[in-house]
Amino acid sequence: MRLVLLGAPGSGKGTQAARLKEALGVPHISTGDLLRAAVAAGTPLGQQAKAVMERGELVSDDIVLGMLEERLAQGDVGKGFILDGYPRNLAQANALEALLERIQQPVDLAVQLDVGTELLIQRLAGRAKEEGRADDNPESVRNRLRVYTDQTAPVIDFYRQRGKLVCVYGVGSMDEVSQRVLEAIRNHAATC
Ligand code: ADP
Repeated sequence: MRLVLLGAPGSGKGTQAARLKEALGVPHISTGDLLRAAVAAGTPLGQQAKAVMERGELVSDDIVLGMLEERLAQGDVGKGFILDGYPRNLAQANALEALLERIQQPVDLAVQLDVGTELLIQRLAGRAKEEGRADDNPESVRNRLRVYTDQTAPVIDFYRQRGKLVCVYGVGSMDEVSQRVLEAIRNHAATC
């Protein structure tokens, strides 16, 4: 199963991806995690990405695609993968489609986690206190939400047009949302 998880910052993509990984037995690939690891390791790529991420802007498409290609070349993706945080704009969606066509592993489904803006802001503020992520400060959060609306939301239509989109209401307990996600995947039925 090859899945793309779509949803605004704070929508619970990371949490649900970790659970789906267990349920489906395929690796969870988060471009945010890959980038944060590069920043923590102080690689040249990480040094380039650090300030951009802290501002809540998108790291350049080339850098992220290169990183993703490297990750997809590892042996554990044979049975599929859950992509979290990619694609984040239409250029990335097209690049991903071309890349996966080349390796004959097209995306099966894109799951969109639907959460209202008020709750997103609340959740991100809560996470800022708990985890202290460098990009959870108010200005960066505002930027990330704006980037999502302007650049990432069109990706939802990209998958809708291909008949690959399911939407899941992302409000409720983590278990409730996981159940909805699994059901939507099983039935390929939650139209939106
Ligand atoms: P969130 O969904 O809460 O914003 P992520 O961990 O997915 O968290 O992403 C954190 C940051 O990493 C983004 O704001 C962006 O700077 C960078 N990033 C992650 N994925 C991508 C991507 N596909 N393209 C460009 N930048 C990305």
